[in-house]
Amino acid sequence: MTDRPFATRFAPSPTGRLHRGHAYSALTAFEAARAAGGRFVLRIEDIDATRCRPEFEAGIYEDLAWLGLDWETPVLRQSDHLADYEAALAGLTERGLTYRCFRTRREIAEAMASAPHGPMEVFTGEPLPADEEARRLEAGEPFAWRLSLATARAALGGFERLTFLEEGDGPAGEHGPIAARPELGGDVVLARKDVGVAYHLAVTVDDARQGITHVVRGQDLFEATHVQRLLQALLGLSGPIYRHHRLLLGPDGKRFAKRDRAETLERLRERGITSGELRRELGFG
Ligand code: GLU
Repeated sequence: MTDRPFATRFAPSPTGRLHRGHAYSALTAFEAARAAGGRFVLRIEDIDATRCRPEFEAGIYEDLAWLGLDWETPVLRQSDHLADYEAALAGLTERGLTYRCFRTRREIAEAMASAPHGPMEVFTGEPLPADEEARRLEAGEPFAWRLSLATARAALGGFERLTFLEEGDGPAGEHGPIAARPELGGDVVLARKDVGVAYHLAVTVDDARQGITHVVRGQDLFEATHVQRLLQALLGLSGPIYRHHRLLLGPDGKRFAKRDRAETLERLRERGITSGELRRELGFG
């Protein structure tokens, strides 16, 4: 994995305008690529058509160009590749690694609260008996495809050999070779009936497809790495090295969120802040 040329990515979802936190993440990845003489890839994670909007995608290009970044073209938009994620899902399903889950959010919350050995923090379930599943499918009930941790564990002979290299810092200072704990995510959703693919599967397929050697992203996605490492192993994909970075906090000590309109890069620009000033403020002078 390390003999491939350095390649990293910034992978925003066009569900709102970018803010200071995104700028920090994008600059961290971009500067890492530059320092290594490697590739910087921009990926548009727009699988959820109900939340993504073309004007937010246009805003991503505008904001990143303003920050002084450039990236490889054409840019991969996940919505153009749904068939690839479906093929990956079908492969996992053929191997018995997924199951259809018909539970609603509320039913899941109830099942987790009343688990036999005390409340569960993550959901794990199992396939329905075939006749009940057939009846629900027939009735057109919505379902999600979930990864079966139990089957995955059996397929890999346990998760003990599943590791990833952390070159940055996890939220608790994790650094170096890390034993992956995919159970942190439970039986994650891989696809929903309405969307067709969910975040973890699309990211895993695309990091491999785009030859990403180093995933540079915020510590809020550290747990996701444990899940994605499992998916890489199940799909026979080589795992990238990870560099999780600290999360930028606002003056109130909270993370920037897409709902903080005043902190979007667009608004900062309107207020007359230059990209040079922002870069310096974020430590990229
Ligand atoms: N699309 C994800 C987000 O906007 C980031 C995915 C990733 O970096 O793995 O939060």
